[in-house]
Amino acid sequence: MKKRVLLKISGEALLGQKEYGIDNNVVDRIALEMKEAGSDTEIAVVVGGGNIFRGMQLSDKTGMVRATADSMGMLATIMNAIALKDRFMAAGTPTQILSAFNIEGMIEGFERDKAIRILERGNVLIIAGGTSNPYFTTDSTAILRALEIGASIVLKGTNVDGVYDKDPKKNQDAKMYNEVTFKEAINQNLRVMDMTAFAMANDNNMPIRVFNMHTNGNITKALLGESIGTYVHN
Ligand code: UDP
Repeated sequence: MKKRVLLKISGEALLGQKEYGIDNNVVDRIALEMKEAGSDTEIAVVVGGGNIFRGMQLSDKTGMVRATADSMGMLATIMNAIALKDRFMAAGTPTQILSAFNIEGMIEGFERDKAIRILERGNVLIIAGGTSNPYFTTDSTAILRALEIGASIVLKGTNVDGVYDKDPKKNQDAKMYNEVTFKEAINQNLRVMDMTAFAMANDNNMPIRVFNMHTNGNITKALLGESIGTYVHN
């Protein structure tokens, strides 16, 4: 049986050199690296929306009702999914999108059986729309969907190399862990994902690999199961 993994791509990762929106060079590199991982792995991708809208920030800045702002955030993930699919297809990778909520004539709704069939056919599955509920994040979506589709790991692409004992952007002596247990992460207050996502991963024993997706070749390595970044496990 093929290994099934879930790759979480934050919206921020799609910014590249831009301040807002999608840098196509970044998306093309992701598409290429996914292709290089070959056909030995079934790949589901959960995409965020922070490059376009983040509900909490939008609500803080404008006074918009948080749940309404979160709807805009979730719609942003759909736009990212469409952009990713376009470039994955252009690279020759058959790709389908399922969203937590369907958009008639454009995006199909997520159903577990459908999702698994897409993966078994060898297509990349992009999961958009978050959980369809406000006050959640796409990190929580990643853990939730990974559990539903029976993925063996969540690969969280970030803009730092892994999990550190303190913020590496502020502390030069910050130490990165190659491996950390859920218990150690809780005891040492390490930031792996948001608390809701982390709690769900811990409760259901879903391992997470945190890695730098801006380093060339890292997406391929993560998909192939190489030991890059930090492995968070039970
Ligand atoms: N969002 C939501 N419910 C979800 C997932 C996402 O309301 O289940 C909204 C929320 O406003 C969030 C935005 O969508 O800020 C974009 O998602 P996220 O911040 O997780 O994106 P990322 O940080 O990965 O780019």
